[in-house]
Amino acid sequence: MNRRLALSGTLIALAALTASPSAAAPADPDCFDREKRPYTSVVDSHLHFRPFGGPAIPFEEMTGYLRDTGVRYANVYGIGQTLPAGSDCTYYLSCPGTKVTPSMKNDFANARDLLDHTPEDIQLTLSMTFPDLANPEGVLERMKLLEEEYPGRFRWMGEVNLVKQALLKNAHEPADKADIAAWAPFMKELRDRDIPLTIHSDLGNDRDRTKFLPLMREVLERYPDNEIVWAHMGLSKELSTMDPAQHTAILGQLMDRHPNLAVDISWRVLYDQYFSKREARRHYVPFLNRYADRVLPGTDFVASRDKNFQVYKDELEVTSRINRYLDDKAFRQIALGQSYFDLVGLKDKAPRVCERA
Ligand SMILES: [Zn+2]
Repeated sequence: MNRRLALSGTLIALAALTASPSAAAPADPDCFDREKRPYTSVVDSHLHFRPFGGPAIPFEEMTGYLRDTGVRYANVYGIGQTLPAGSDCTYYLSCPGTKVTPSMKNDFANARDLLDHTPEDIQLTLSMTFPDLANPEGVLERMKLLEEEYPGRFRWMGEVNLVKQALLKNAHEPADKADIAAWAPFMKELRDRDIPLTIHSDLGNDRDRTKFLPLMREVLERYPDNEIVWAHMGLSKELSTMDPAQHTAILGQLMDRHPNLAVDISWRVLYDQYFSKREARRHYVPFLNRYADRVLPGTDFVASRDKNFQVYKDELEVTSRINRYLDDKAFRQIALGQSYFDLVGLKDKAPRVCERA
C-alpha cells in the first residue's frame, strides 16, 4: 500500500474520530485573539464626565472618545470635589485654599446629557457622585430626589472621597468613624437597590504607608453586605513607596474576609509608580489573576476642556498596559469586562479568549 495514502487515511480517520475542527481552523471563531486584538480594556469603570471647575468636554465628544478607542461600557461619574462657580481653577491642586465640595449639580447635568444623547452602541451607567461622606446626613433624601427625577437611571455611587490627602489643602474633611456609622441609612438603600459604591480612600503616604487603613477597615466591617469598590487599590501620588508584597498581602486578606469588596485599578499613577516595574508586577499580577472577578479597569480621566482625544487615548493605553501580563481568565474578567458586567448586573458576556498555539 502506498505510504502516503495510508497516512492520509489515518489523518482522515483521526479527524473523523475527534469530530472537532482541526488545528488549522480556529476552534472557536468568536473567541478573542489576544495576539491580534488590542489589550486596552473595553470597560472604563472610572471616568469623570465633569471637571473640577471650568468647562467640560461636551458629552457627545466624550462618548466619541470611547467609541474610537473601543471602550463599550463606562461609568458616568461626576466629580466629588467641585470648585466654587466663578473660580478659574480647573484642578484643585493649582489652587490651595479654595474650598471644594461635592454637589448634586454634576449628577443632574450627567443625567440630562445621557437622556438627551443616549448612545446606541455604548452602555453607560450613571453614578451618584454628590455624597459628602464626612457629612452624611441628607444623602438618603438626595438619593431619593435623583430617583424621583430619573427613575431607575442611577445604578452606581461614586467616586466618593473617604480620605483624599491631595484635597486636604482645599478644606476636604476626611470622614471619621462616627461619620461612617452615620452612613447606615444610605448604605441600606444602596444594598436594597443593588448599587455598588466606589470609595476613594488613600491607604497612606510615604511617611506612614498604612496610615488610613483603619478607616477602610471600619467601612468594610460595618457594611459587609454592600458592594464596595476601593478606587486605585488605595494608592495615590502621596504613596509612591508602598511595598508591593505588603500591599497585596493586605488587599488579599481584605478580599478574603469581605467577598463584596472589589478594587479598581484606574489612574495612570498605578502604572507609573508600580505596574511599570517588573519587581512590583511579580506581586501585583498574581494578585490580579487571583481576584480578577473583583477587579475593575478604568482611566480616571477627568473631562475638562483643556484635554482632547489624544489625552484620553493615552490614559486608556497606559492604564491598560497591565492587561498584557494577565492570564487569559483574568484578561477576560478585567479587560473584556466580565467582572464589570457581573457587578452592574448586565446580561452581556465577555468572549472567551482563544487558546494560544
Ligand atoms: Zn477618580
